[in-house]
Amino acid sequence: MRMLLSALAATTILAGAAQATTVYPLDRATILAGSPFDFKVEFKSAVKPEDVKITVNGQDYKTVLGKQAEFVAEEKGKDDKVLGSALIARDLVLPTEGAYTIEVTAGSESKSVTWDVYNTGETQKAKNIIFLLGDGLSVAHRTGARIMSKGMTEGKANGRLNMDDLDHMAFVGTSSTEAIATDSANTMSAYMTGHKTAVNALGVYADRTPDSFDDPKVETIAEAIRRQTKKSIGIVSTAEIEDATPAAVVAHTRKRGDKEQIVGMMFDVKPDVILGGGSAYFLGKDVPGSKRKDDKDYIKLFHDAGYTLATDKSELQTATGTNTGKILGLFHTGNMDTALDREFLKKGTVEKFPNQPGLVDMTKAALGELSKNEEGFFLMVEGANIDKMSHPLDWDRALVETIEFDKAVGVAREFAATHPDTLIVVTGDHAHGVSIIGTIDDEKPGTEMREKVGTYAEAGFPNYTDENKDGYPDKVDVTRRLFLSANNGPDHYETFRPKLDGPFVPAIQNEKKEYIANEAYKDVPGAVFVQGNIPKSGDSGVHSVDDVVLQAAGPGAEGFKGYMEESDIYRVLADTLALGVKQTN
Ligand SMILES: [Zn+2]
Repeated sequence: MRMLLSALAATTILAGAAQATTVYPLDRATILAGSPFDFKVEFKSAVKPEDVKITVNGQDYKTVLGKQAEFVAEEKGKDDKVLGSALIARDLVLPTEGAYTIEVTAGSESKSVTWDVYNTGETQKAKNIIFLLGDGLSVAHRTGARIMSKGMTEGKANGRLNMDDLDHMAFVGTSSTEAIATDSANTMSAYMTGHKTAVNALGVYADRTPDSFDDPKVETIAEAIRRQTKKSIGIVSTAEIEDATPAAVVAHTRKRGDKEQIVGMMFDVKPDVILGGGSAYFLGKDVPGSKRKDDKDYIKLFHDAGYTLATDKSELQTATGTNTGKILGLFHTGNMDTALDREFLKKGTVEKFPNQPGLVDMTKAALGELSKNEEGFFLMVEGANIDKMSHPLDWDRALVETIEFDKAVGVAREFAATHPDTLIVVTGDHAHGVSIIGTIDDEKPGTEMREKVGTYAEAGFPNYTDENKDGYPDKVDVTRRLFLSANNGPDHYETFRPKLDGPFVPAIQNEKKEYIANEAYKDVPGAVFVQGNIPKSGDSGVHSVDDVVLQAAGPGAEGFKGYMEESDIYRVLADTLALGVKQTN
């Protein structure tokens, strides 16, 4: 009975809190000691400044936080809708670790949150961190890449992926502050700042005002490294370099779509090595192919700031020999092509961009350049197309991409073998709703492709070959191949075959702006119609809420274990590089 009563009391408190004020950072935020952050209180009504009372651990907030917050009598939302009063104080720093309970009252409103301010050790555990992020990397991608790349005999893998042998492991929860589901912006932002936030947000808590640049900021790992160390920073991605994942290393905005401004934020931080796609946002608006709305020429600005520029694989090779210590390599106006298209099929946009480097080339170039700094470095490497090919349910491209990502992990491991003061972290940022359910065997009798799906014992083993031992299958359209299936998606045709003519486009928009099955695949022999199960506004499969697997090796890796929130990962990174407050300072 007593338990029931206290549960009831807890419910009442929670219900009350939902009506009340919002405080950023949110309750249970973990904050690195010495790391600047913005503090904001959003009242649900108009309050009088003289009625506002804020205490931190029972003391007046100004004493503890060291700043007077600015009072905003009336915040306005969309269409000038009045949202209530607010208080905001920017760039606060808490140098001392401990629990900080913030109590806010004003009139009938009240809110209490507690932050955990933590410090790190004084000395770094590793000199370098290589953080490899497989965008959307799910368990099915790993299993599929292993079988496709190494083969399997009598139920045992014939070889191991590079990521398989990283000896520390954790399950990571990827949910956002507003929903169980998530996107690459808030997930990578949590890894790179230690604060969970909302879908589409980078380096900020998502406040209620429409302006995407006024939200309460938190420090990114790049800023913390610049503030506390003389290490170099590298960002490598096969996506547009201002896309959510690479942007999260440096950016502060509520909207990941603010790509023009994100390039500016990257310029402010000046990572020493920047390699990827997305040159369209670096060119002034009058340059053909530009996606900017202003005249800013960031190619020139980076060049003037001492960067060696590269636009293809050969120029990247040359740039690594010039010893400037700074390289800006932009190899595509948009997202770079997949490994399957680049290396084998020559589809996608490979004709237009024939000499793109791959993730392995870029990782090698970045490590070569960054390792010249005696102080060490932080390198983020993103295999972006695992996600970008999983959305359109193009599983062959997603798996070959995972093999390429794993090769980049191999490059990192080779580097760590001769530089043991390096922490390697390999993880995804969210999962996809995909599983391997068996094989498709063309040699089974009949014309119905569905009847050629082998499940349980009927699945047997696929017959991919790798004659040249490059780790990639010689071809993906073998007669007995992996069958991956998504648990969600738009209406589409399942063709049971690799898409050799270019990435799969499962659904297209009709005149009512609904996504319907792309008829282009209707006449593929044996294709079956698959009824969609997500809203018709969705053109592709969606992220799943499943945990992702993180693996790590090297000094500091012992910090990764059990179940962790994405925001907890940052604490291990910060501790590894000793980014906290040093008493000797
Ligand atoms: Zn995605």
